[in-house]
Amino acid sequence: MKAVRLVPALVTILLVASCVTMRVKPSSMHFAANNVVAHRGAFKKNSFPENSIASLREAIRLGCTGSEFDVRMTADEVLVVNHDPHHGGMDIENTTYAKLRTKLLSNGEEIPTLEAYLKEGMAANKSTRLVLEIKPSPAGMERGQLLAQRVWEQVKKSKADLWVEYISFDYAILTKLCSLDASLITHYLNGDKSPAELKAAGIKGLDYNYKIYQQHPQWIAEAKAQGLVLNVWTVNEPSQLTWCIEKGFNFITTNEPEFLLQLKAQ
Ligand code: MG
Repeated sequence: MKAVRLVPALVTILLVASCVTMRVKPSSMHFAANNVVAHRGAFKKNSFPENSIASLREAIRLGCTGSEFDVRMTADEVLVVNHDPHHGGMDIENTTYAKLRTKLLSNGEEIPTLEAYLKEGMAANKSTRLVLEIKPSPAGMERGQLLAQRVWEQVKKSKADLWVEYISFDYAILTKLCSLDASLITHYLNGDKSPAELKAAGIKGLDYNYKIYQQHPQWIAEAKAQGLVLNVWTVNEPSQLTWCIEKGFNFITTNEPEFLLQLKAQ
């Protein structure tokens, strides 16, 4: 009789335990406790091409807490990592991936696909976030929305969710991501929204140009009060880096990650 009562009780305990487990975010990621985000990877010191696999590997090797990179979409909807809308004289959005890949980067790499970049960024890396910038589409908002959808699908397919944070100048791209999954970590780049506006839209942080914070110094305290993540780009001068450290920015995006790591270590 007792055994009969015990079975439903055990089932209940197991169900409750599994629900609790599902709600808890895996704690396997231990991102580095610095605030250094390598802008387009750590490229400058070693003359690697920006946004190359080599620059990503170097940012991870250095132990930066983040490595930033830019994503665009080819004519045949392949996601590639490149800052400019052109690669090797070819317009990315109007060129097929097969054609684009024929033009190599200066270190002999092919233009990376997002898939390859994520794969590399997850390999033996638990210290460096992958800060994924979705570039606004030159073709307009509709293609920008498609790009956001495709990027989100690729991140899920690659099982890279725990590594990736999203940034964009395109507000509609970020709100699209929020509608796909409200728990995504998103940061807005364009500098024209107050922390309160971002908070209301479900965006998790502001990542503005250094000059914007000087024009709106109150946004620093406001962002902290709103519980938003505070980022700044692209800071390279020692005096500006020191100012950002003093102001308590969570992340500082820089072309000089080695210098900033050294500065923080002092
Ligand atoms: Mg970028």
